[in-house]
Amino acid sequence: MSYLDFDLPGELIEQDIYGARLHFDGTCIEIKKPYRIAVLVSRTRFDHFLLGKAEEVGARIVQGRRVSALDRDRDGARVMVGKDSYRGRIIIGSDGFHSVTARYVRRKHRKNEYGICVASRIPDDAVAMDIHDVVDIHFGVAGEGYGWVFPHKGHFSVGIGGSASQLGSPKAAMRRFLASTGLPTDVKMQGFPIPAGGVRRDIVADRLLLAGDAAGFVDAFTGEGIAYAIRSGQLAGEVAATALESGSCCVRGLDPYRVRCEREFGRDLRYSLHSARLMHRFSGLFLRLMASDAEILGRYLEVPARRSSYQKYLAWLLPRIPCYAARLIFS
Ligand SMILES: Cc1cc2nc3c(=O)[nH]c(=O)nc-3n(C[C@H](O)[C@H](O)[C@H](O)COP(=O)(O)OP(=O)(O)OC[C@H]3O[C@@H](n4cnc5c(N)ncnc54)[C@H](O)[C@@H]3O)c2cc1C
Repeated sequence: MSYLDFDLPGELIEQDIYGARLHFDGTCIEIKKPYRIAVLVSRTRFDHFLLGKAEEVGARIVQGRRVSALDRDRDGARVMVGKDSYRGRIIIGSDGFHSVTARYVRRKHRKNEYGICVASRIPDDAVAMDIHDVVDIHFGVAGEGYGWVFPHKGHFSVGIGGSASQLGSPKAAMRRFLASTGLPTDVKMQGFPIPAGGVRRDIVADRLLLAGDAAGFVDAFTGEGIAYAIRSGQLAGEVAATALESGSCCVRGLDPYRVRCEREFGRDLRYSLHSARLMHRFSGLFLRLMASDAEILGRYLEVPARRSSYQKYLAWLLPRIPCYAARLIFS
């Protein structure tokens, strides 16, 4: 929200979130912060609002048509949409996980470089849980990933997400998760792939920049990517404008985009990947510590709230692990 140069209308915000309730292996802990750490929105309404904002400042919106290929030469760039095409000078590819534009920049994701989510929308009256201003997170239910129950307006968003290389049958894992939390299992489920951030990927080619999921900018530990999609889109726009002014739209002219993404959030995405791998490699220890100690979870919540970074969090946590582990064993 702090990246946007306008406010979100109140009616878009379905729930203000102040904390998290974390479950692991029969242990549960809930932490609330004195400040808001997140808001919950529904994507159709939120995305539609953002699209309207883009149109207000002059973007021309063409909906319902898919880009099938790109063509670039010394004078400009062209996107093919069926038999039609649109010509411009620089393309910013923000076409999500299955990006067509990314094919012109980098190789496909390997299986250990993306995750799978299965999500459902369950009406309020089918959920007998007392959750309002916190998110409910369950570790140990989806391989290296987690299950979630998020309270929206009139419904709960419920799902699981984990590494594609580990989550054997995502829908079966989702059904087990629903059953274990007492939620209805005969719900409509939708599966989505999601890139893991922190993996080195090319994001710039001649007359072409990748932003958001197309560039792989997603927190590998939480699966959050909206903030990175917004920020990388802004940076891509700024760098494209400078490149157009200088007339240098080749890789070298656009490279400042890679540098600025790296400087602003690239390092933190790498730390999120290391954290995810470390925490899941030693999940018994890390997750038990997180689910049993208010300070460990409380400090972590400052990361998604953008008051701290993974780097700072790990620098704080790692030297304290022996002490926390000893406390856990003796308690
Ligand atoms: C189940 C689930 C839950 C999530 N929850 C959260 C969360 O709570 N918080 C968070 O921060 N992130 C969350 N994420 C991640 C977040 O959704 C993404 O990181 C974010 O949407 C990326 O934005 P984007 O604009 O790059 O891509 P997208 O939102 O995927 O948008 C890509 C757009 O490009 C269009 N498109 C694709 N191909 C073409 C084509 N060939 N031609 C034309 N258009 C095309 C698509 O129709 C779409 O409109 C979640 C992801 C999943 C799967």
